[in-house]
Amino acid sequence: MTVFRDDLLKERTALVTGGATGIGKEIARTLGRHGARVCIASRKQENLEAATSELEGEGIEVSWFACDIREGDQVDAMISGIRDGLGSLDIVINNAAGNFPAPITGISYNGFRSVVDIDLRGTYNVSKAAFEAFLKERGGHIVNITAPFQNMGVSLQAHVAAAKAGVDSLTRTCAVEFGPYGVRVNAVAPGATADTEGLDRFEKVETGNPAVCPLGYVGAKQDIANMVLFLTTDAASYVTGQVINVDGGTSIDAFKLSLPKE
Ligand code: NAP
Repeated sequence: MTVFRDDLLKERTALVTGGATGIGKEIARTLGRHGARVCIASRKQENLEAATSELEGEGIEVSWFACDIREGDQVDAMISGIRDGLGSLDIVINNAAGNFPAPITGISYNGFRSVVDIDLRGTYNVSKAAFEAFLKERGGHIVNITAPFQNMGVSLQAHVAAAKAGVDSLTRTCAVEFGPYGVRVNAVAPGATADTEGLDRFEKVETGNPAVCPLGYVGAKQDIANMVLFLTTDAASYVTGQVINVDGGTSIDAFKLSLPKE
């Protein structure tokens, strides 16, 4: 179900990192259903191939690149490949991320570095390379997928919260530096999102009930994809440098209490 016109992103090309699984695949599907040519990128070729045939089966024009976004040379190769294969790039969705729930003492030095490398450095690598190669010339959009909890203390997520706080900061700086080139840069912060690896990992540890939010239910991947789509359209033409929570109100609910239904 969409409230947007089907051809909204016609003749646009979109790159979605981590676009073979979870929220990223739903974003790729949603941009593709609205006319964009979509390129998905991540490390595991089998997931990329499976997602590509699934999306192609739905009539979406999709290609893939195997790329570890932590590695600058791989990112440069992907951007060159997009130039050779597709010729343009208008929309960049930095969605790829690493996560595992663990207390600070349970995270290895390498584990902490790895999450910061994927979420923060990966977002920087892809944004910089895409801006220099494409967006600087013709304008475009960057949307970073972040999280809604990094401005608070959050147990089991020291590595992710630190990385996502950096992503939020990078979002604002990119918005300021790239704005004069017609590039809008925003971030979307999903709350607990149903049917994702991310939420699965949390359901295996003792945490609060993710459905406890003012709207009373766990969000869907489509809820996140809809906000990403909105930000890449002219409906959001004066919006840049913003981090938008799509979390059913979790982040503004001070007491996290469910109200009794009438
Ligand atoms: P997911 O299914 O685990 O997706 C993560 C994707 O990132 C995978 O496709 C993975 O593919 C890719 N990736 C990981 N490391 C990479 C690397 N070094 N280079 C390139 N790609 C890499 O995650 P998700 O739950 O859908 O989450 C998507 C986004 O939403 C993330 O930014 C996450 O932080 C955010 N988020 C999710 C939730 C939630 O409830 N799920 C809540 C808040 C925020 P490969 O392993 O094949 O590389």
